Amino acid sequence: MSKFWSAIVHELTPYVPGEQPKLTNLVKLNTNENPYGPSPKVLAALEAEVADSLRLYPDPTSAKLVQAVAKFYNVPATHVFVGNGSDEVLAHTFQALLKHDQPILFPDITYSFYPVYCGLYGIEYQTIALNDEFQIDVSDYKRPNGGIIFPNPNAPTGCGLPLAEIERLLEVNTESVVVVDEAYVDFGAESVVGLVARYPNLLVTHTMSKARSLAGLRVGYAIGQPPLIEALTRVKDSFNSYPLDRFAISGATAAIEDKAYFEETCRKVVATRQALVRELQALGFFVLPSVANFIFARHGKRSGDELAASLRARNIIVRHFSKPARISDFLRITIGTDVQSQALVEALKDILIH
Ligand code: PMP
Repeated sequence: MSKFWSAIVHELTPYVPGEQPKLTNLVKLNTNENPYGPSPKVLAALEAEVADSLRLYPDPTSAKLVQAVAKFYNVPATHVFVGNGSDEVLAHTFQALLKHDQPILFPDITYSFYPVYCGLYGIEYQTIALNDEFQIDVSDYKRPNGGIIFPNPNAPTGCGLPLAEIERLLEVNTESVVVVDEAYVDFGAESVVGLVARYPNLLVTHTMSKARSLAGLRVGYAIGQPPLIEALTRVKDSFNSYPLDRFAISGATAAIEDKAYFEETCRKVVATRQALVRELQALGFFVLPSVANFIFARHGKRSGDELAASLRARNIIVRHFSKPARISDFLRITIGTDVQSQALVEALKDILIH
C-alpha cells in the first residue's frame, strides 16, 4: 500500500453497521428495523412505477415526496430536504452545517456514525458524557457559534428528552446549529418539528427506515428553515449525489400519506415493547426507559458478551457493543413481533437457568 493510501486509511475509522445475516431462520433483533411490512399502499405505488414509468428518469427534486412530507408536518415545502436514507441527510448536514471554528458537541454514547462523519469531513468534536442515569443533560450543552447534534430518543440507549428540555437547549444556543436526529421519535418521544418555525438554527432529521418500515428503500429527510435546507441542497448538488429513484419517491410518498397504517404499526411496536420490558425486568434485567423501537438492557449477573453469544447460538441476534466499557454489559434489542419477543424471552429463561 502506498504511503498516501495508508495515511488515509489510517485516519478514517469507518462506521460498523449491524450484521445483516445470510441465514433466514434467525429472529433478527439487531438493527432496529420494523417487524411489520410497509403499508399496502406502498406496494401498490411500487407496482404502478414498474407498470408506468421505470423507463423514465426520476424527478431530481423529488417534489412529490417533498410536498407529502411538508403536508404531513404542516410546514412549507421550502422547509423540507429529502435524501437517500437519513445517513445521507446526516452526511450532508455534517458537511454543510457542522464545520465550525470550535469543536461541535454530541453525547458520549450516541449514534456511532457521528464521529465517522467528523473524521470524513475534518470536523473537530467534543463529546459530553451521559449522566449517571444514561440521560443527556441539556445544561451541559453550551456552544456559542458552533454546532450540536444528538438523537432524540438517543441511540443506543432509547432514552428520550422532553420537548421543554430541548427548548431549554435551543434558548441558550441561538447562535449554533442544533441538529436533532429523530430517527426513532415516532415510538413515543416528542418531536421538535413544531419548534422549527421559531428557531432558525434548528434542523430535524428523520428516516423512513424505522416507523415506516422502509429501511430497504433508503429514504430520509430533514426539516428546517430555508437557509439550512438550501445549504443541504447546495452540498447535495455539489457532490453530485444521486437523486432519489422512482421507487424511493413513490414508495416513501405512499408511506407518508398512509397515516393510519403508520400509527397502527407504531402502536403495535410500543405495546410489544412495554410487555417485553416487564418480562425482562422479571428475569432480572435492568432496562433503561425506552421511547424507541428498541430497548437497552443489562443483566446483573451475566455479561453482555455471553448473553449475546448464547442468544446467537439459539438463532436470535441482538446488538452488543463491546466499547465503551460503560455499556459493554448492555444488549440493544430491537422490538419485533409478539411472537419474536416471546421467542427471545423463552431463550433468555433457558440461558439464565444454566
Ligand atoms: N440516526 C440514528 C440515530 C440511527 O440509529 C440510524 C440508523 N442506524 C440512522 C440515523 C440512519 O438511518 P437510515 O440511514 O436508515 O435512514
